[in-house]
Amino acid sequence: MVLSANLGFPRIGAKRELKKALESYWAKEISQDELFKVAAELRQLHWRLQKDAGIDHIPSNDFTFYDHVLDMAVTVGAVPERYGWNGQGIVDLDTFFAMARGNAKTGAMEMTKWFDTNYHYIVPEFHTGMKFRLSGEKALRHFEEAKKLGIMTRPVLLGPVSFLLLGKMKGGGTALSLLDSLLPVYEEILSKLAAAGTEWIQMDEPCFVLDQPHSSRDALKRAYERLTKVSPKLKLLVTTYFDELADNLEAVFNLPVAGVHIDLHRAPQQLDAALKAARKDQVISLGVLDGRNIWRANLSAVLPLIEKAIAAHGKDKIFVAPSCSLLHTPVDLDNEKSLDGELKSWLAFSRQKLAEVSALAKAAHGQKDKAVFEASDKAAASRKSSQRIHNPAVKSRAGKVAPDMLKRRHPFAQRELVQRQSLRLPLFPTTTIGSFPQTAEIRNARAEFKAGKMGEAQYKDFLKKEIALCVKFQEETDIDVFVHGEAERNDMVEYFGEQMDGYLFTKFGWVQSYGSRCVKPPIIFGDISRPKPMTVEWSVYAQSLTKKPMKGMLTGPVTILQWSFVRDDQPRSETAKQLALALRDEVLDLEKAGIKVIQIDEPAVREGLPLRKKNWQSYLRWSVDAFRLSAAGVKDETQIHTHMCYAEFNDIIAAVAELDADVISIETSRSQMELLEAFASFKYPNEIGPGVYDIHSPRVVPQAEMEMLLKKAVAVLRPEQVWVNPDCGLKTRKWEETKLCLKNMVGAAKALRQAFSAKEAGLRAAR
Ligand code: GLN
Ligand code: ZN
Repeated sequence: MVLSANLGFPRIGAKRELKKALESYWAKEISQDELFKVAAELRQLHWRLQKDAGIDHIPSNDFTFYDHVLDMAVTVGAVPERYGWNGQGIVDLDTFFAMARGNAKTGAMEMTKWFDTNYHYIVPEFHTGMKFRLSGEKALRHFEEAKKLGIMTRPVLLGPVSFLLLGKMKGGGTALSLLDSLLPVYEEILSKLAAAGTEWIQMDEPCFVLDQPHSSRDALKRAYERLTKVSPKLKLLVTTYFDELADNLEAVFNLPVAGVHIDLHRAPQQLDAALKAARKDQVISLGVLDGRNIWRANLSAVLPLIEKAIAAHGKDKIFVAPSCSLLHTPVDLDNEKSLDGELKSWLAFSRQKLAEVSALAKAAHGQKDKAVFEASDKAAASRKSSQRIHNPAVKSRAGKVAPDMLKRRHPFAQRELVQRQSLRLPLFPTTTIGSFPQTAEIRNARAEFKAGKMGEAQYKDFLKKEIALCVKFQEETDIDVFVHGEAERNDMVEYFGEQMDGYLFTKFGWVQSYGSRCVKPPIIFGDISRPKPMTVEWSVYAQSLTKKPMKGMLTGPVTILQWSFVRDDQPRSETAKQLALALRDEVLDLEKAGIKVIQIDEPAVREGLPLRKKNWQSYLRWSVDAFRLSAAGVKDETQIHTHMCYAEFNDIIAAVAELDADVISIETSRSQMELLEAFASFKYPNEIGPGVYDIHSPRVVPQAEMEMLLKKAVAVLRPEQVWVNPDCGLKTRKWEETKLCLKNMVGAAKALRQAFSAKEAGLRAAR
């Protein structure tokens, strides 16, 4: 019989119950027992919900108080010394939270993106000669907890090879060299689970959808040859997701394991190879539904894939599942009471996806539920033709984008001259990234306005007052290029989404970003257009208050795309192009309204990179083109800025240069300007503002420190190339430290200016 399976369920709760409990616990408002109670209730609710949806393989141990990678680190005792764990027994909850969030004595462990999702995991720390021991029993406890409720679950473990590959070796060496000392702990977990009555265990090895050297495949083989010997009763399912296995496919199917899960949503093309590679007695778990987007599946289109697998491999060795854990999808569409019926009929959240999985599994063994399939067909048909989705004018305009629309009128060298004349900026011009502190007052006013408690006129007046304060402060501080402060924006994507056609918003569409932090990505469901200017009014008002140039502030097409749930009925590149055209209009409207500097933020370009290197080029091509399409319509004298806030530039620097922004501001202070090396050896052509101070911390950075960083920058860049700005926007900071930091920043710029004009005078005198 074809079984239905799930790989993981969102833990945070349909109404973010876990978030609230965690934050109350951290604020010492509830006890550990109360936190445990909320967690146990959520688990129970979610297991029952999956059972009711008809899922045969229900995961356990997918729940965590923070992050499943951190869970694994704690389970095997990989606790860095600075957290003061005594190394005995079980790692306690507060040590676990200290690793995630830092404590009074030490900071949090590093966090990074989970593959190409918006979820962040805690990066395990390893060192040569490290000893592992079993120091967490969550997998066992949760299995038993579910069993007591009458639900047999499939415990999920992050597999040993991916666990090591996702970590970092401190002090050099390769993490895989630790495999032999790690495996005994995994063996211990597996044998305890076997003794408790577990049948299947899900071993996540997602790293094998990435480019891997031989050594990783060898390690995988070694690991699973040992782990499959732990107990004859246990069946291991190695799960992979987010992309194709490609050159790792043989190695994964050659493992002596009972089953392999593959992502057939992202990579349907790998089915044939999988059918060929699988042993006759090996289960293939087909990840047929998109586990990380919110679209309802077209069941009739998916079923043939399953039937093909059955024909080749037999009913008894096929599972049907979402492509990956549902961690990246909200919980339940039924909570969306204000979405209209048609829009709703196109969507599926976790609960709805599980019903789809179950319907597919049933249909695959001959019990097709006609009504379910008909409803799915109907939704697919209406999505294909709905006028709410398809806007012929937008499609035709996108179809006519010509290459010259991606090009500024003249090359940068020429633009630089006219811009210098028109903007009259000093050497080392100072600016900020856009947002100023979002005070409680601003948030309250926005909440009141949204709740209808504050009228529009009053809200606008309030915002104008805020803008005026920002302008006044920048005058006093003698900054060169101003911003209006972004007080009117809740979020850099939602703000634009709300003003464009083609977007819809949910009330409870939350997904976990990290720990208790959730995001509610807006949904791009249709062709994108801009009914009217989105930011012009604010920029023009702000400019009216000062003679200094005021930057118009926009979020770029790639970032808007990346931080939304996107359409699956057209390529991402097409959606990016539509967004770019809408932004292009906004850019031109800003220019027309007298704004001379326009910043188009693209902090998400790097995270959009495909997992496999071979796909990078095509992504970079269309994403660079989308940015250029949004920016290139302006005159030479209009200065286009962009901003990116991360430090790993080396591998995409050529693409960054191709954006051809006149000025780019980047994050550098935390890496002590290391990344400037990339810009130096590459000879970045345009102007750059390497962030001179970290905005993630309230620390007041002394002027001397910023001067030192600037000197490092000037050592590898031309002085005329260098701008002076913080690492990122200031919205999470308080005014107190912001004022002091920016004062020091302007001081640093002035000191450098002086040093350079003295040097120039000296040179002239010597001539
Ligand atoms: N302009 C935005 C701000 O200052 C940029 C934010 C970002 O890069 N994430 O807040
Ligand atoms: Zn930033």
